[in-house]
Amino acid sequence: MSKGRVFIISGPSGSGKDTLLKILFERYPNMKFSISSTTRPMREGEVEGEKYNFISKESFLSMLANDELLEHNEFVGNFYGTPKKPVMDAVSSGEDIIIEVDVNGAAQIREKMPEVISIFIMPPSLEVLKARLSKRGTETKALVEKRLCAALDEIRRAEEYNYIIVNDALDEAIEDITTVINSEKFRLDRQQYLINQILDKA
Ligand code: ADP
Ligand code: 5GP
Repeated sequence: MSKGRVFIISGPSGSGKDTLLKILFERYPNMKFSISSTTRPMREGEVEGEKYNFISKESFLSMLANDELLEHNEFVGNFYGTPKKPVMDAVSSGEDIIIEVDVNGAAQIREKMPEVISIFIMPPSLEVLKARLSKRGTETKALVEKRLCAALDEIRRAEEYNYIIVNDALDEAIEDITTVINSEKFRLDRQQYLINQILDKA
């Protein structure tokens, strides 16, 4: 059995990661999602255990001390981390998994798992990003400004990623991510066995 693939999705807050992921999981019902642990307060409409486990700072620090996190980061005053076990379990049981993390988290995962496939979701422009973040209405004006500052730092590090997808028209961005996910299956390192299969019978 081949190992599961690990996809990392990053992009500035408001670039459309959640919107794209919701549609992707309808297309790929067997794809797993890595549920992060965070100390950020729950937003209206969010559900415990769906995208995040909302935990106290004490619980987060204890997970960290027990080496239960694959990566972690502080973002705009809150901690976020990827629990290690679900990712390792998915990989060893041949299931593909998507991890949504910021650029620092992505760099930590790449160090430990160089084979990950990383995708950066780029907003069409900073103006559009600001408009989408404000329209979403989940953050105060001051927090929107902080998230926009963080966005510039993230975009500066987009070159660390394997793929960049611009989320302008939603349906096009979905097609583009689908193309990446599908074509990754055909990489030489995942198909090497086919060569031997044929040659062994020659
Ligand atoms: P993120 O998860 O990256 O923080 P969201 O998925 O919450 O971003 O998207 C931020 C806002 O932008 C949401 O209100 C969402 O409905 C909207 N949005 C996302 N993608 C598009 C798009 N392609 N066109 C227009 N609005 C979008
Ligand atoms: P939000 O508060 O908007 O849900 O997420 C804020 C930022 O934290 C986003 O850039 C998001 O990708 C990132 N994030 C979400 N989960 C994790 C995680 O487990 N680890 C890290 N490092 N970042 C995360």
